[in-house]
Amino acid sequence: MSILPAFTPMDVYEKKREYYNCMNAASKKRLAELVKQAMEVREPNRNDLAWLLTTPDLDTLEIVSAVGQVRKKFFGTRVKMNFLLNIQSGLCPEDCNYCSQARGSEAPIPKYSMVEKSTFCDAATMARDVGATRLCLVASGRGPNDREIRKVAEGVEAVKKIDPSLEICACLGLLGEGQAEQLQEAGVFAYNHNLNTSENFYGDICSTHTFSDRKKTVELAKEEGLSPCSGALFGMGETNEDILDTCYALKGLNPDSVPINFLIPITGTPLSSLNELTPQKCLRILSVFRLMFPDREVRIAGGREVHLRAMQPLGLHLANSIFIGDYLTTKGQSIETDLEMIKDAGFEIEGGGPKKQQSPNGLEIRLKQSVLD
Ligand code: SF4
Repeated sequence: MSILPAFTPMDVYEKKREYYNCMNAASKKRLAELVKQAMEVREPNRNDLAWLLTTPDLDTLEIVSAVGQVRKKFFGTRVKMNFLLNIQSGLCPEDCNYCSQARGSEAPIPKYSMVEKSTFCDAATMARDVGATRLCLVASGRGPNDREIRKVAEGVEAVKKIDPSLEICACLGLLGEGQAEQLQEAGVFAYNHNLNTSENFYGDICSTHTFSDRKKTVELAKEEGLSPCSGALFGMGETNEDILDTCYALKGLNPDSVPINFLIPITGTPLSSLNELTPQKCLRILSVFRLMFPDREVRIAGGREVHLRAMQPLGLHLANSIFIGDYLTTKGQSIETDLEMIKDAGFEIEGGGPKKQQSPNGLEIRLKQSVLD
């Protein structure tokens, strides 16, 4: 009697599959069905997205390749670039655990009240020079008061004189009635307010406002004429169920753009020691969001360099938009590196790219990262 285990042909196939780590036929079919639904802008099934989040790391390339077809159908090879200006930094009374500007944060960050109109204009010029088509104006705080709304409106009106085509997105916290309308009249196009995480997990990351407060602000901004921009932040200890809850909650808000942040664990904040994400997990999360929002702007926001690392170019096959330059209180990789990455990965910059790569005598000049440097 043989002491060797009896392998069926199917066992041998499965062993080979494991060895080469390719997706089995059932998984390929499931993925193809998800892609087909997204191509037809049909909402994916939650179980299928849950499965996608738990696929093995070595299946990631197949997932990116398949879901990348959705991105290409709706956005071709275009990459939208967004430039960020922190118009008011630090000293926030809210206690969002992930934020370096929160009350109680010991992060060594610049703290200043709202910048002057001239700084808005400098940022607009810089955004245009680097090839960004959207300028995101972000202020710390629970929400703006009337004086702050007036200052932002004045800054935006001045920016619009410099470049009427530059899209302006404001992110000023929780809004009161009528405030979005004032911003819209001044020339603001979009309002960003992220849900960040699930309703269930929200109390673990913030106690000074609620998930429902956040939702209301996105709805108010939309009602008063601004394009809704709302996304998420992952890597804070949430479960896969929380990721899916966030994704479906965002879908319910019908946003035009969906920024996906990956936690930058900033020293001096309560989440500084968290490092839960891997590049493959980030790519799976981006795939889930592309499938849920096939024809909407999906943007890789903060944490791209920290968590995707060498896999950043793969993220471009899923997201159609990135931030360029620095983040709110942390440095991004150099603008030149981002531009090179986009080109090397075979993508092109929406709007034609940098307007000021060369000085008049032909010498390349360095594109500045941030107006506040
Ligand atoms: S409200 Fe905004 S600025 Fe304030 S702590 Fe939360 S995320 Fe930071």
